Amino acid sequence: MSNPLYRKIYFFTRCLLAICVSLFLCGPVSAADDHRITDIRFWQSPEEAQIVLDLSWTPKVSAVGTLDDGTLYFDIEGGSFRPGRQNYALNNAFISTLTVQERASGFVRIFFRVPAGIQFRTFLLPQTPPSKPDRIVIFLSEPAAASTQRREEEVAEISRLKSQNVKIVVIDPGHGGEDPGASHNGIIEKDYVLSMGKLIKAYFDRDPAYRAVLTRSGDYIIPLQRRSQIAEQAGADAFVSVHANYNSRHSVRGIEIYYESPKGAVGEAERKLVDAENQQDIIGGVSAVPHSDQAKKELVEKQASVMFRSRQLADKVETHLSRAIPGLPSRGVKRAGFRVLHSVAMPSALVEVGYMSNTTDAWYLKDVNGRQRIAQAIYQGIKDFLEGNIQQGYDTGYLQYSREVEEAKRVRLEHIRQAKERRARLMRGSKLIKAAKGDTISGIAHRYKVTTADLCEINDFGKRKKFKGGESIRIPGHD
Ligand SMILES: [Zn+2]
Repeated sequence: MSNPLYRKIYFFTRCLLAICVSLFLCGPVSAADDHRITDIRFWQSPEEAQIVLDLSWTPKVSAVGTLDDGTLYFDIEGGSFRPGRQNYALNNAFISTLTVQERASGFVRIFFRVPAGIQFRTFLLPQTPPSKPDRIVIFLSEPAAASTQRREEEVAEISRLKSQNVKIVVIDPGHGGEDPGASHNGIIEKDYVLSMGKLIKAYFDRDPAYRAVLTRSGDYIIPLQRRSQIAEQAGADAFVSVHANYNSRHSVRGIEIYYESPKGAVGEAERKLVDAENQQDIIGGVSAVPHSDQAKKELVEKQASVMFRSRQLADKVETHLSRAIPGLPSRGVKRAGFRVLHSVAMPSALVEVGYMSNTTDAWYLKDVNGRQRIAQAIYQGIKDFLEGNIQQGYDTGYLQYSREVEEAKRVRLEHIRQAKERRARLMRGSKLIKAAKGDTISGIAHRYKVTTADLCEINDFGKRKKFKGGESIRIPGHD
């Protein structure tokens, strides 16, 4: 517990769990009773805080604006609160006040004030039946300086571990807090995978050659992208996200291991390059992005190399898991574009430990011995990957797919360019005329000695268009 990595996550959990308070007091609500804010909760840790608003409808929420006095606000459309204005004096390190006010029928404004330096963002969480409604989250995090210091401590700890050849494994219990995941047969996914994550970590903790870190060790939500970010910042040698599956067809059963799909990786490459270019714009270095083709090529190669190793990580985990419990079959290694698998910093896999919707799987999942065996198998699979003879190379399927996507994009752009050129040619020397009643496309084309195709294209007409008379028609020019 003395190292910063561990301390960070431990404190985060403990405090976040300790300080969850419900702020809402029942009272009369105004019009549109079926669309209202039903609860407001506040969660806090040393690094972050969240305000969660429960809603009885799917809201439309505006961007955050700032008033002259520095108060922040956003609007929620289509629902009601209660008459008047409700102030919550929170007075803590992340937020000083929160005010909810129904400004007009169907229009609620949320005001909040944050101390200097506190970073914030808002996002929507869709409902997860049966227990969780639509929610708005105000996510607040500590000032950049504080996180920088924390980060420096982490970096020092990571280099100490790496210098001693200690491998860092990050286990990600899926879901959490506001996002319970699936639930069936007495299993609630977020709780189940948290206890599974702790069991896996316990295996690594006995081994001085490893340092295992959980992305969360309590019941709170972490944005998907933050999960792999935590692994990247921890200098992870492997990242494994743990989930339990559900299918409405209750006969579906077995474990599944996923790693990044070509489609997911292509999407991520696009996002990363756009981000990089936006970043350059902010810095003002217009000339700093002349090599985006080169940057793209390097990124795709990096992805292909990480995916090649992710496949081996997934294979090793699958090998052990498929043997862990004779009654729990494997559905094999698959590929999917899950957000948590996008990182290019380390090999990643996502494990679905079985279907809670299947009675037999659920029995094994709940069985104390079964849980130990699953945790041990995941541990052994990761260990095998990190200690075994791992091949270096590229995911050639992905390289091929990426080339095809590039080619398709090039063809599409070429079509657009040609269409523009054609239109410009048709516009040169074109003229407007008025249609007479009963005119047809072919009749007009014949009269002005132009093709029906050109006539339709320049006017965006369908070939069977009928004219009532008086409509403006553009007649293409002759080159
Ligand atoms: Zn899940």
